[in-house]
Formats: sequence, C-alpha cells, structure tokens
Amino acid sequence: MLSHVDIEFLLEELREYIAGYYFNTSIIIKFKDFLFVYTLYKYLLCPIFQNVYGYGIYRSLTFLTTYIIKKIYSIVFKLPVIRSKIEKEIKKTQASLESQLIIKADHVNHSIIPDHGLSFKDVMNQLDELDHLKSVSWKEGKISGAVYHGGDDLIKLQTEAYHRFAVSNQLHPDAFPGVRQMESEVVSMVLNLFNASPEGCGTTSSGGTESLLLACLAARERGRVEKGITEPEIVAPKTIHAAVFKAAKYFKMKLLLADLDPKTFTVDINHVKRLITKNTVILLGSAPNFPYGTVDDIPKLSNLAVRYDIPLHVDCCLGSFVVAYYEKAMKKPFPFEFDFRLPGVTSISCDTHKYGFAPKGSSIIMYKNSDYRKYQYYISSDWVGGLYGSPTLAGSRPGALTVGAWATMIHLGDDGYTEIITDILENAKLLKHAIVNEIDELDLIGDPLLSVISFKSDVINIHALGDMMSKKYGWHLSSLQQPAALHLAVTKLTNQSILDLINDLKKCVAECVEITKREGKDSIKSDTAQLYGVAESISTSSVVDELVGCFLNVMYKTDKDNFDNE
Ligand SMILES: *Cc1c(COP(=O)(O)O)cnc(C)c1O
Repeated sequence: MLSHVDIEFLLEELREYIAGYYFNTSIIIKFKDFLFVYTLYKYLLCPIFQNVYGYGIYRSLTFLTTYIIKKIYSIVFKLPVIRSKIEKEIKKTQASLESQLIIKADHVNHSIIPDHGLSFKDVMNQLDELDHLKSVSWKEGKISGAVYHGGDDLIKLQTEAYHRFAVSNQLHPDAFPGVRQMESEVVSMVLNLFNASPEGCGTTSSGGTESLLLACLAARERGRVEKGITEPEIVAPKTIHAAVFKAAKYFKMKLLLADLDPKTFTVDINHVKRLITKNTVILLGSAPNFPYGTVDDIPKLSNLAVRYDIPLHVDCCLGSFVVAYYEKAMKKPFPFEFDFRLPGVTSISCDTHKYGFAPKGSSIIMYKNSDYRKYQYYISSDWVGGLYGSPTLAGSRPGALTVGAWATMIHLGDDGYTEIITDILENAKLLKHAIVNEIDELDLIGDPLLSVISFKSDVINIHALGDMMSKKYGWHLSSLQQPAALHLAVTKLTNQSILDLINDLKKCVAECVEITKREGKDSIKSDTAQLYGVAESISTSSVVDELVGCFLNVMYKTDKDNFDNE
C-alpha cells in the first residue's frame, strides 16, 4: 500500500514533470506529441471502446480473431502453390456456372453490331426465340418473389402505357408535363398509403436499392450539415437489406449491425441503443426484412429516434403494398404502427415494382417533410453545362416506367389491391400453417405476418432440401445463411401453386430425412449446401467473394469471350 506521503510525493513528481514539459519543450515537439496522443485516442482507443461497449468484450475479441485469421488466410492464399490450386477450383466453378446459366438461342448471335440492320420481323423472330429459352417456370408461380404479378391484362396495360411515353425523360419536365404530373401523383398516392402528413414528400427511384442509397445519403448529408458529423454511422438490424451495406460502402459510412432477439427474429432494441453514438446519422428497421419476413419493432425504434434526435428509416421495399394493405385485407390493424404515424419515422422506402405490381425499375423514397428530402438532391450551379439539379442518383430517367407505375395503380385501385393482397396473405398463412403443424422437420423462423415465410431445420440440410425441390419439382426458393434457411416470398403467381409447394415440400423433406438417416446430414449431394459451407468457414469465405465475382462475370459472357479463350 502506498502511504499518504508517498502519494503526495508522486503527485509532486508528476506536477514537476508536467511543468517541465510545458516550459521546456518546443512547440513543434508539443504538436507532434499531441498528434501522437490524438491519433492513439482516435484510431485505437475510440474504436476499441466503441466495439467493446457495443458488442461486449467476448464478441469484440471474436471479431478481432476473425479479422486476424482472415488476414492470415488472405496472405496464405496468395502463396503461388496455394493460389494455383484455388484458381483451378474457381475455374471449375466458373465452368459449372457457365453451363448452368448460359442458355443460348441457336439462331441468335450478336457480339458485335450486325453489318446490316435486321428487319422488324427478323428482330421479332429473334425475340421469340430468346423468350422461349428454357428457364425457371415463373409463370407457374414456382419462383420466390421475382415476378410479383404477371397477369396478362396488366402486362398489356403497362406495355401500352410504356408505348405512349417511350421517349420521355423526367429530367425534362418542360418537354413531358404529363410525366411530371404522373410522377408527382405516384409519389402522393404512396405517401397516402403510409399515412404521411400533408408535409410528407418524396421522389421516385429505379428500385429499392436506389431508395435505400438515397435514404442513407440524405441522412449522411443532414448529419454533416446540421450536426457537423464527419464520420457518419448507420445503425441497422443485421437483417437489413444488402443495399444498406452497399450504401455504407459507396458513401463511406460505418455500418453497425444490431443483433436480433433470438425468439422473434426482429431487432434487439437494447442492442440498437448501445450502438448509438454521437456519430449516428440514421437508424433503420424493416417492415418486413428480406431474410425472414419479420417486422422490426418500429414503435420502439421510433422512440429511440425521437429520444436521440436521429432520423429513422423504415424499409418497406418488400412490404410495399402488402404491409400497407394489411389492415384492409385482414380486416384488422397490423399489430403495431410502422409508418409516418410514428413521430420518429422520417423516411420510408416502398418498392412499387414489388407488391405495387408496377413494371420493374420503380420504387418510392418518402420523407416526413422537405427538410429531410432536400439532402438527397444534387445541385450544381457552376457547371459549364448550365444550372443542374437532379433529385436522385440517376441523371436521365425513364419517364415511361413511372407512367407504367401510375397506370398500374389507377387500374388496380384500392379494391384491386385489397383483393390481391388478401389472397397473398391467406396463401402465406397456409404455408406458415403447414410448416408449423404438418412438417415436423422444418422450423418456422420468427412469426412472419406478411408475405415472406422462412424456415430452417435441425434434422436435415436445408440447402440440400432447396436443391432437391429445384431439381425434382422446379421450385426456386431463396437460400439464406446464418442460420441456414430457405424462404418463399408469396406473390400473386404463387396463389395457384401454394398447395403444390406444400405437397412437394412434404415429399422432399421425407426423402431428405430418409437419406439423412441412412447416410448422415451432409451426405446429400448439393451444390448450394457446399457453397454455403465454404462461405460459412472463416478460412474460405474470401474465396466465396471470388466465386460471386465469377457469377457476375458470367452474366456478361458472349460467344466472343469464348473465342478469346481459345
Ligand atoms: C428487394 C428489397 C430491397 C431492394 O430492392 P431492389 O429493388 O432489389 O433494389 C430492399 N429491401 C428489402 C427488404 C427488399 O426485399
């Protein structure tokens, strides 16, 4: 133990040291020291503190070890011997991807512009051939999400609407006043669905991803201008859509992911609270999220948003008209509020091209009022090309798509939407019911109330089940990871096929159980299960990034590339 005198002595020493430093050190050294301490504080102590506070010591250590192991593997993977092995594997996967994805029309081949233009009729013939290539049978409702309506009458209406405004560009409202009116009306109709106040406003965008990019960008700009935040942070549930990860990357924002409540598979509000810092520029929640179709506790998120004065974005990209029409369809209100009725909600994204049934390329980003919206605008008043203002990420925009959305909405009307959404919700309930009550080996994830139903299994390999459903019966369910699961987004097209799906699921589950009993859980041959196995392992996850890159490369392969390789 130090005695009182010892402490006095030490303090005196310290005082002298500080005084000595203060009087005897040159200003330059002082500045250097200050920089050193500041850097240490800012780039080491602060992040450590934030991590430990946000995720706890144990998780922070896990993050750190994972990070280190990944770094080590990335170095190991660069060693020539190993690299050549990996490259061989990647080539194999690429070849298999090519054989699966590249399905070509026999009489169509244009890797360069044809010397002489083809006649109208010849082009149509080629389109016919391309249209008839063998693919996933979406028309029978066998694919999760993807095509949300697909009715012939509606397609006819949309094509006609497109036809009339094919050349229009929203960048030029003076040339296309009709498009301006329709765009403003589409935004207004959707604002009304989400209970915006008269000050509510928004813009159209090209899709959910652009809407989410814009919400994050606007929040970042608002944080910078109004609060001087230079290192913006996003706090979102780990189930938030990949587009928010994209926004964080594009706009150099830090994304902090909040855990889920293990029972409800919705965001853990206490964890969100712990992740909020003075740099938080936006909170997000989903209604519902893509993976599990569960809806975060938006009222509680709204409370946090108000309390800490941080904007709250609700991602209703997928929920779109399903969540908005829940009350009319089910004849009872949604269990809690999720839209502009809540004081903390400052922006909402809604994909008109999902359950709004508009042509693809259509989404709405809405704000509580124009004080929030103005931060997504791009304005340049000193460009030599003239005064320039653009409301969204794109410059020129296809007016015809907005016209398609407008025509769809006034054609279906309140009664039309209510009817379709009722069917969709009823069918989602059928699937949910079957999984809970009729297929013991499958476990529902959370308590989905809308159109997306996801399930996992402790008994069989769920990805192998997905592959079997695809090979045997042509189903295309979405694969999820952490935990491994499958989901179906019920659409209008699924209405005809939901009972078949339940039957096929029962048959495949039974077969998987058989094989598992005989040969073990991972015995079933499944490309998807293998791929997710590779993705799950810390050591090989970086290779998966390359495989996904391969997939993207394959999308742009033509015959010309094959000749190049020879
Ligand atoms: C589909 C989806 C998005 C993004 O939409 P895109 O139109 O594919 O860009 C965003 N959030 C959720 C929850 C979605 O399901």
